[in-house]
Amino acid sequence: MIKSNSYNQKFKNYKDKIDSSSTNSVVRTRFDSVKENPKKLLSNKFFLIKDNISIAGEELTCSSKILEGYIAPYNATVISKIEQNGGSIIGQTNMDEFAMGSSSSFSKFGPVKNYYNNSKVAGGSSGGSANAVAEGLCNIALGSDTGGSVRQPASFCGIYGLKPTYGRVSRYGLVAHASSFDTIGILSKNLEEVIDTFSVIAGYDPNDSTSVNSDVPSLKELKTIKLPKKVGVLSKDFLKNINPEIFDIYFSKVKKINELGIKTSEIELPYFKYCLPTYYILTMAEASSNLSRFDGIRYGNRQSDEDLNNLYFESRSLGFLNEVKRRIMSGTFILSSGFYDAYFSKACKVRRLIKNSYDMLFEENDALFIPTTTSVAHDIDRKNSSPVEAYLADIFTVTANLCGIPALNIPAGFSKKENLPFGLQILSNSFKEETLFSLAHLLKE
Ligand code: GLN
Repeated sequence: MIKSNSYNQKFKNYKDKIDSSSTNSVVRTRFDSVKENPKKLLSNKFFLIKDNISIAGEELTCSSKILEGYIAPYNATVISKIEQNGGSIIGQTNMDEFAMGSSSSFSKFGPVKNYYNNSKVAGGSSGGSANAVAEGLCNIALGSDTGGSVRQPASFCGIYGLKPTYGRVSRYGLVAHASSFDTIGILSKNLEEVIDTFSVIAGYDPNDSTSVNSDVPSLKELKTIKLPKKVGVLSKDFLKNINPEIFDIYFSKVKKINELGIKTSEIELPYFKYCLPTYYILTMAEASSNLSRFDGIRYGNRQSDEDLNNLYFESRSLGFLNEVKRRIMSGTFILSSGFYDAYFSKACKVRRLIKNSYDMLFEENDALFIPTTTSVAHDIDRKNSSPVEAYLADIFTVTANLCGIPALNIPAGFSKKENLPFGLQILSNSFKEETLFSLAHLLKE
């Protein structure tokens, strides 16, 4: 296929920008593999893909030394669908190792630098994808969201970030972090592009046993703006400790929702203080089990051949960075016979209580409107910060994954004090992504 001028210009523009970028967002390019594919929904759209989603014939490392040199043998379903619909995949993006983190600085490639201020993080774990979009290195990027990893970096980079309903988008070809939480999400500056990409990648896939076999609304239906009847919002008292600029914009948007003629009701987030501990107990347990395959035998680079114990020990000690090791060890403890009931079983029960309470909230409300993050992006060199401090950054995002419901970060404002963007979040009931899109349209400036 001969490439048209407009395609070639766009291609060259993105290639030049990626080649000269210094934010460490893109870890690998594949400029030679793309071709123009006219008259399809995603034709002329350039994609970057998080380095934990398989692209046949390309390296796939999850930003980890243990997978250095590993070549993906097949395409993830989302990759095949994007290419079949005309999208051009031009490279892969930096991330926190195995998608564990919220800063994109736990990476064998080093930290992603926020486009708006290079001394700040881009958020994570899909920070490379979010920052690449903000910086204009592609139209659209894919990330993964297990507890906020699409929405939180989207907030820190001032763009849209969609986490679909669990089971809506196939996980086939996504390297597992916590399988009952993992979703593939979409990042873009442009809401229309998020919806177009969603309509392409959503749908049943027999290769993913957790994929749900239900109809996806047509593109036209997804783009029809319907006024939600009622939106649940938070009280001033509940949000009094968040960044004051986020606080102000949040309540100005609540006012706007009212002005649109949509009813709002003040809600309390059910079991709020239990969500983070439940999330971390369950995801660490699942991660420790999922990552056991990276042992230097089944998968991953082998570091020693002396004896079997050393082979495991050296391969895993040298292959993983500290955050991943912390989670594997915590998860193994949580699943150990003496503590399984106290932690794992109990957390499963609490997850069910949380899910039931959200089901009840959605009987009353079409959508919930809450912050994505409590602050703007922090320094890359954050001194004296503890893992728990990092985990607290996910306080408003993990619930959607605990419940499997969809959520969307919308770009909302810019902190004058910090000179950094931030977003706000819309949640809806499962398989109601169109409600998120409607409200996001209505809240556009
Ligand atoms: N920051 C969260 C964590 O570290 C979310 C990660 C994710 O969504 N992949 O677990």
